[in-house]
Amino acid sequence: MPHSMLDVLRRIIQQVNAARDLSQALQIVVHAVRDAMRVDAASVYFLDADTGRYVLMAQEGLSDEMVGRLRIAPGEGLVGLVVERAEPVNVEDAPSHPRYRHTLQRENGEFHGFLGIPIIQHRRVLGVLVVRQVAQRRFSETDEAFLLTLAAQLAGAITQAEATGGISRLIEEVSGRVPFMLRGRPGSPGVAIGRAHVVFAPANLERVPERKVEPEAVEAEVAAFREAVDAVRGDIQRMARRMEDVLPAEELALFDVFSMMLGSDTLVDETIARIREGRWAPAALRDTIAEHVRLFEAMEDPYLRERASDIRDLGRRILAYLQARHPPRIEIEGPVILVGEEVAAFHLAEVPRERLGAVVSARGSGTSHVAILARALGVPAVMGVEDLPVGQLQGQELIVDGYEGRIFVKPSDALRQEFDRLRGEERELAAGLESLHDLPAETPDGVRMPLYVNTGLLSDITPSLESGAEGVGLYRTEVPFLVREHFPGEDEQVRIYRHVLEGFAPRPVILRTLDVGGDKPLPYFPIQEDNPFLGWRGIRLTLDHPEIFLTQLRAILRAGQGLDNLQLMLPMITEVEETARLLRRATDELLEDGIEVPVPPMGVMIEVPAAVYQIDAIARRVDFVSIGTNDLTQYLLAVDRNNAQVAELYDGLHPAVIEAILQVVEGAHRHGRPVGVCGELAGDPAAAILLLAAGVDSLSMSVASLPRVKWAIRSLPFAEARRLLDEARGLQDARAIRRLLNEALDRAGVGGLIRAGK
Ligand code: PEP
Ligand code: MG
Repeated sequence: MPHSMLDVLRRIIQQVNAARDLSQALQIVVHAVRDAMRVDAASVYFLDADTGRYVLMAQEGLSDEMVGRLRIAPGEGLVGLVVERAEPVNVEDAPSHPRYRHTLQRENGEFHGFLGIPIIQHRRVLGVLVVRQVAQRRFSETDEAFLLTLAAQLAGAITQAEATGGISRLIEEVSGRVPFMLRGRPGSPGVAIGRAHVVFAPANLERVPERKVEPEAVEAEVAAFREAVDAVRGDIQRMARRMEDVLPAEELALFDVFSMMLGSDTLVDETIARIREGRWAPAALRDTIAEHVRLFEAMEDPYLRERASDIRDLGRRILAYLQARHPPRIEIEGPVILVGEEVAAFHLAEVPRERLGAVVSARGSGTSHVAILARALGVPAVMGVEDLPVGQLQGQELIVDGYEGRIFVKPSDALRQEFDRLRGEERELAAGLESLHDLPAETPDGVRMPLYVNTGLLSDITPSLESGAEGVGLYRTEVPFLVREHFPGEDEQVRIYRHVLEGFAPRPVILRTLDVGGDKPLPYFPIQEDNPFLGWRGIRLTLDHPEIFLTQLRAILRAGQGLDNLQLMLPMITEVEETARLLRRATDELLEDGIEVPVPPMGVMIEVPAAVYQIDAIARRVDFVSIGTNDLTQYLLAVDRNNAQVAELYDGLHPAVIEAILQVVEGAHRHGRPVGVCGELAGDPAAAILLLAAGVDSLSMSVASLPRVKWAIRSLPFAEARRLLDEARGLQDARAIRRLLNEALDRAGVGGLIRAGK
């Protein structure tokens, strides 16, 4: 190291030692490094032991907005690569590096030269020191040695501060702000900019998000709270009277305790005081209840300790009244981003369709039913954002990128402009897609792929013929069952099914029989199971309840009368004999009632690995098969389709899934039976290319995906698709296969189908 560098180092270390605290020390380091190395930006990241993320702690040359908010996972981007390797990473032209992520550059313009040095103590990477240059720059050995020496000094300082809790305090201090970028899984493609509206499970105090109340609305909020308290007091008195003759006196005393708690002014007054600070009643109530629960839980007397749960119960009762009185009102302007711990299908109904900008959920994955719905509505969605600070997001501005599965909180102007531009390009893309709707899904070398739509998930999504669909490839009949309070009767079902069949006639409509259980429990038919996805779901449940199944079969057959476009499909099949027998019985019964219906073509879903291996036996007995890749992927890979924890492993392009599809196509074709794919994979433009090459006869997908898939098919010759399939079969993992297909789409000029922009 040249002498002057040593001098500089010594000076920096002296300054750092004289610093007031660690925070100032870090600021001195980044400033001095930027000066001494003549770089455009210098920054330092620390490990937040609680989350395992590396948090940007200090910077010069980047935006101050990002301090505390930029949080990087090990392995993520070039900074994550430094952590992963625990070695310096020196890159002359960062954007061309395969591990490069452009988060920072979007905010600060493009940087090319990159040098990242790990801060290591006892083999643990405690942080990363980074310098960046706008121009391309290969950093010298001297540069590396300089930063390494500094990093070693910092490691010592960090370990000292760690021992006194200084690091976590500092991280808390800089992270008082919500993280800048959060990662989840892609749920539905597209980008959106809007404000967050937080939804939460009813009558659950822990889930109540923070909201502000304008000064002029405070008194109304107080009044609503008082009314809720009065209503609960009334309920308790009524309950006590009803129990008077039933319960012994000492048990009845409990109701007195309740009334006393409500009457004592502490609960009520403390909540009102909080509302007067400008907070909405549910959150004020939540905090008052939490404080009292803590007090009681700390008591010596076991009887009094038990009262903590009574207080919680009271809180929930008051909250339920508050919620009933305040039907969720959307107070934000412009596009609404629906945000929640676990966004459910019914939450979507809280926002008018034209205002719904995007969906962000801490739980779930791309194949959760709410994500399927978002795709059906053409709304971007990001699922499984585990560190989503739900409680702090109400009203915040968000950018949602449904392609990459990430969201940006309180974006800077530069970032907003960038995404505005991308949205403009998206609109152009959509206009281009619209012009396709009269054209067939045909490759440039003349191979046609019939495209169908999946519907039935929401009754108000009227089947869209405008998309150019050739029919319905999957009508999920469970929806009318899920939204009612009891099983719908035969006539009611006939009306529902007839509506779809008539709407699409003469185009074919495949009605799938009831597929409940798993993640779709019926509210009026509770099932308690340890492993619902391996339990009583789909055809297994209906075969055990012939009364439910026969009613549905009769309704389906009657609905199809005289239309000649009905096809019947059975879910979760592992064998077919029993179902064929019931279908015969249903037609016989109808005949006895004087209703003569033809037996419709009958197909089965291939969504359990057992069915893949039995494809010959199955194909012989049915008219068609349809591959349900959502379930097939989860069962083949043993990855729960709703579990965000393992969502990284869930990918329908996994080589095992592709081989299974090929095996099904081959087996079914041996018996002259057509094969469709109706899982979400069919609506993925990149995957559709592979399915075409694999010999699949039709694809069925949400209406919103259809034009994208059509465009992909129209852009790549069949011969090229076959070549890609051959190449994909030589690859070892889904990521490599996806990269191969994405590159092919990019080359064909339709990269806009798979990421933001054109
Ligand atoms: C599937 O499993 O791929 C499928 C289409 O069915 P569902 O998503 O309704 O389980
Ligand atoms: Mg399924």
